[in-house]
Amino acid sequence: MKLIQSENQIASSLKNCQVLIVGAGLSGAVLAERAASAGLRVVVLEQRAHVAGNCHDHRDEHGVMVHAYGPHIFHSNRSHVVEYLSGFTDWTPYTHRVLADIDGQKVPVPFNLTSLRACFAPDQAEAMEQELLERYAWDQAVPITDLMDSDSARLQLLGDFIFTKVFRHYTLKQWGIAADQLSPEVLKRVPVVLSHDDRYFRDRFQQMPAQGYTAMVENLLSHPNIQVALGQEASRWIALDETQGEILVRQRPFNGQLVYTGPLDALFGCRLGALKYRSLQFHFEHRPDFPFQATGTVNYPNHESMTRITEFRHLTGQADVSGTTIVREYPQDYDPDDPGRNIPYYPLMNPESRTLYERYRVLAQRFEQLIVCGRLGDFRYYNMDDAVSRSLELAESLAWAPSDVEAVS
Ligand SMILES: Cc1cc2nc3c(=O)[nH]c(=O)nc-3n(C[C@H](O)[C@H](O)[C@H](O)COP(=O)(O)OP(=O)(O)OC[C@H]3O[C@@H](n4cnc5c(N)ncnc54)[C@H](O)[C@@H]3O)c2cc1C
Repeated sequence: MKLIQSENQIASSLKNCQVLIVGAGLSGAVLAERAASAGLRVVVLEQRAHVAGNCHDHRDEHGVMVHAYGPHIFHSNRSHVVEYLSGFTDWTPYTHRVLADIDGQKVPVPFNLTSLRACFAPDQAEAMEQELLERYAWDQAVPITDLMDSDSARLQLLGDFIFTKVFRHYTLKQWGIAADQLSPEVLKRVPVVLSHDDRYFRDRFQQMPAQGYTAMVENLLSHPNIQVALGQEASRWIALDETQGEILVRQRPFNGQLVYTGPLDALFGCRLGALKYRSLQFHFEHRPDFPFQATGTVNYPNHESMTRITEFRHLTGQADVSGTTIVREYPQDYDPDDPGRNIPYYPLMNPESRTLYERYRVLAQRFEQLIVCGRLGDFRYYNMDDAVSRSLELAESLAWAPSDVEAVS
């Protein structure tokens, strides 16, 4: 990966570049790679001291590979995304399993027939299971809303139990919103699995990049046409002239394309108001012995403020260290002025936010050379494969396919 560091170097690269990308997360890196492979000169500006955005991983001081911004598990049903990324990484197979601590017992989530048997007396569990399997197919994922609305008192009891013990308080902590204020669609996605399948994701592809996400993103960015400047907040170099619909780079009109993967409100100085996000605090702890817990993640739905604990060695399969590192997660309100919670992790998508976001999109559309994308730019929750898929689609729509564009000498 070609890093540019001095002010002069960055200034001169910006002068010559054809595609300027803000953000070296997965979205920005995929677009950088596509543009570079199409023969375009690309500069990536990243405000952090590292690439890979929120899926950045690194070895901590004990040598354990950790995910700095929360545990990331790659899962997808899109073969074209897996195929594309496989050009930049090898994979280690990994199936994510999650337990939830319910009344002191660790039971699989999504809630399944094993969880049912752990949480209810044998006779009651037997009767519930029998009734479920009379109504639904084996291995079916049934939304708990179906159970809560059912005409059977027994199934209602089960639905209400899962809602109360697994979902309600967890959601309140995660989103800062009472479960009954969430869109009903969210609750409809909480299933009971009618088998003993305890995989957290049921996607066709579940795997981890063998050398980690940062190495994979570095490989994406290691094209000779790409230059990367770290520690560079974009507004130091870029401005928007809203009256002319013109992008200015170093105060001069920019003729290339600007790909922006940061928060859209920030690009316009939040002048229509600030979009809402949830933030998180991560408390890392190193321990002498592996394993600390039985699965990659254990959820604590009813703990006062913590949502979950993840133990990285389960995820990465790392075997060349003796100790282990875990991380505890504490959701927070986002506050750009508080260093403890100034990272916008999750867009908070209520009707008010959506409307505000649409108003920013209208502003953005005035700039023909501006391409907004990524989790923050699109103000959507994207899994990693969604982010990659969206960037690949964009690249295709821009004809950033190697054969379509004249090579740069
Ligand atoms: C806690 C958590 C857990 C997750 N777990 C999973 C998981 O298990 N599986 C999964 O598939 N997905 C997961 N995701 C989603 C995943 O993180 C995203 O899909 C992915 O990071 C999206 O990449 P991106 O490039 O769009 O955004 P980001 O990774 O946020 O990258 C954007 C980059 O732009 C930079 N930037 C922003 N503004 C500026 C600016 N003005 N100037 C310069 N640089 C700027 C940022 O510093 C950042 O590096 C998780 C997300 C979170 C928050």
